[in-house]
Amino acid sequence: MRIRKHGSYSYQLTRLGLMNCYLVEDENSLILVDANLPGSADSILSAARDIGKPIEKILITHAHSDHVGSVDELVKALPNVELIVSERSAAYMRGDFSLPAEDNGSVKESNFPKLSSVPTQIGKPGDKIGPMMMVSSAGHTRDHVSWFDERDQTLYCGDSWQSAGGVAVMGDTRWRFPLPALVTWDKNVSLQSAANTLDLNPQRLCSGHGKVVENAYPIMQAAFERAKRKLG
Ligand SMILES: [Zn+2]
Repeated sequence: MRIRKHGSYSYQLTRLGLMNCYLVEDENSLILVDANLPGSADSILSAARDIGKPIEKILITHAHSDHVGSVDELVKALPNVELIVSERSAAYMRGDFSLPAEDNGSVKESNFPKLSSVPTQIGKPGDKIGPMMMVSSAGHTRDHVSWFDERDQTLYCGDSWQSAGGVAVMGDTRWRFPLPALVTWDKNVSLQSAANTLDLNPQRLCSGHGKVVENAYPIMQAAFERAKRKLG
């Protein structure tokens, strides 16, 4: 797993060149945002040891297998870790797809593995978990949320935006890396969520797939205008 530091708090952990999760420094501990593919726990734990702080919290953006794949392995290795997810992610993780939805989307959702780990907390948009705030960002999937670090205006956007193949609102397909857009549940909901996350004035964009983007706001704004023309 490749590890790169961005700014004062953020470590990007990348598998297979494309699959990101992030360790974020809090005062005396680390927060893990997403848990990458299955089989990533040893590398994530070794990265935490190198940084020199324990992982105390795991925050999830959405329950796709490349974002929660190593949750069970990590919870086993870290029995006291807090696992904080949205209500719908919690349902998907236990194999429950019965929550009602206002919208049926245009693409059927899939690729949610059943996990044995039980979240310690169900987060709601606006909740503060240490320095991180949960932000609603459905669209790629219905359960999707983002996490915003107010200390350095960093948006951990999961798959609500992508940077692989060019910065884009998820759903505005980039043909150099089309997969997440092609499995996106509802592109118009995604566009609405992109507007919500832009309102936070993010300065750094840490996405699930692709490079970390610095001075992100004007780049995201341009990507949003392009998506609005194509999808809106
Ligand atoms: Zn995804």
